Amino acid sequence: MTSATSTELENFGLFIGGKTVDALSGKTFESQNPYTGKPWARIADGSPEDVDHAVAAARAAFEGEWGQMGGFERAAVMRRCAEGIAANAERLARLEVNDSGKLLREMLGQLKALPQWYYYFSGLADKIEGRTVPPVNANYFAYTRREPLGVVGAITPWNSPLLLLTFKLAPLLAAGNTCVVKPSEHSPASTVAFAEVLFEAGLPAGVLNVVTGWDRSTGESLASHTGVDKVAFTGSTATGIKVAQAAAANVNRVTLELGGKSPQIVFPDADLDAAANGLVAGVFAATGQTCMAGSRLIVHADVHDALIEKVVARASSIKLGDPTAAETEMGPVANRPQYEKVLGYLKGAREEGATFAYGGEADAEQGGLFVKPTVVTNVTPENTIVREEVFGPVLAAVTFTSEEEALKMANDTPYGLAGAVWTKDVHRAHRVAAKLRAGTVWINAYRVVAPNMPFGGFGSSGLGRENGIEALNEYTETKSVFVELSGGTRDPFQLG
Ligand code: NAD
Repeated sequence: MTSATSTELENFGLFIGGKTVDALSGKTFESQNPYTGKPWARIADGSPEDVDHAVAAARAAFEGEWGQMGGFERAAVMRRCAEGIAANAERLARLEVNDSGKLLREMLGQLKALPQWYYYFSGLADKIEGRTVPPVNANYFAYTRREPLGVVGAITPWNSPLLLLTFKLAPLLAAGNTCVVKPSEHSPASTVAFAEVLFEAGLPAGVLNVVTGWDRSTGESLASHTGVDKVAFTGSTATGIKVAQAAAANVNRVTLELGGKSPQIVFPDADLDAAANGLVAGVFAATGQTCMAGSRLIVHADVHDALIEKVVARASSIKLGDPTAAETEMGPVANRPQYEKVLGYLKGAREEGATFAYGGEADAEQGGLFVKPTVVTNVTPENTIVREEVFGPVLAAVTFTSEEEALKMANDTPYGLAGAVWTKDVHRAHRVAAKLRAGTVWINAYRVVAPNMPFGGFGSSGLGRENGIEALNEYTETKSVFVELSGGTRDPFQLG
């Protein structure tokens, strides 16, 4: 277990081969609590050499006990992991809150839901089957096998470290792989504690290793490591492109879960109270720091004013404050660079002529890294605030008059992670859902994910899918096996 050797700061080491260890350099860095503005933990500052050790431990586990286990045994281990997570949910959630400033009620909800992922994928671990294939030539029996890839390098962002790791870890474990994870330098603590919990629950040494590090070179060395068979990344599109390039140099597979600028289309027949609630859930929950934030409101001109009034009424009553307090609805932005980035977007919007129906500035009352929930109006689809991912509590509204125009606006983005349609017309709902270029579409809802529903992006929002049966394909190789049945020989100069 992690130990608090300092009187002030909790200490978190690297987790390699089933042991908590210091970085080889002996260096550490401090993790800041964005609510208090003070450091709260001392984190091992891993380097590329530590990544080498972790990859070697993961390889040894793959070639050792874990690699020898069948699906039934892996499933049993995964169920114990789920129990371990459930038993430690509160402690792990608090670590995430300390690092990211996200609400305890949200992170506790996430941690309590995480076991479902391990139960769901444990149920698939013993069902990873090949096919028998009808022979073209009767002398051959042909079948396929689905095998694990080997060592997966996982790189995660700061917004929901354990949920986004789990999207990778649960399917990769079910398929029999091992893992080295590099969490964000802004939220490293919970991942180390999580690996310890899984190890204590019975996950063999070396199956899950964690290398934290302040410097970008830690992630870079994992993405480009020749000992890794696949890289699974969640983060910004700009970094994702670099990660994919590094992986491509080793002809490695890659899954990318990247950014978004997801549209919420509200038709005039929609239940406006429900839509307003969905808009608040989509962009103000988690202080807007979610990849699937529904940050673009595309609303029919006839109901624009009525809907904005409802959203502003709710936004203005959002309770900002201590993320650990039960009544708090919005915490601070997770770190200073992100806070500066959000304020920069608000300044830019003002300069481009936008109006703020609510917010538009830092919350002076709270101070620190708090930004007011913001509703931007009087903008066009060309404005930066409508086009770029803010990753903060900022909703930008544009209007339409026809379904065709709404869809054109919704799809006018390089991203394609998610989107929503608000209407009571069942025909229109499904018609629009089919035409939205996005990996997830909600009808009269927002921000729902589940272990058994695939999640991922179209376009610049990513490559591949996490969750659902589809996720297993991302962590298995298919092998074709031909068996000669006749016992004879054939013309060696002919194919087949
Ligand atoms: P980021 O891209 O800055 O960092 C993500 C991770 O990559 C961190 O661990 C970081 O240390 C590491 N990293 C940075 N440079 C690297 C490099 N050159 N090689 C390898 N690793 C490197 O993203 P962030 O600021 O932590 O997270 C915010 C972004 O993540 C947003 O754009 C958001 O939309 C996206 N996101 C996407 C999803 C999704 O599922 N699609 C979920 C959450 C967040």
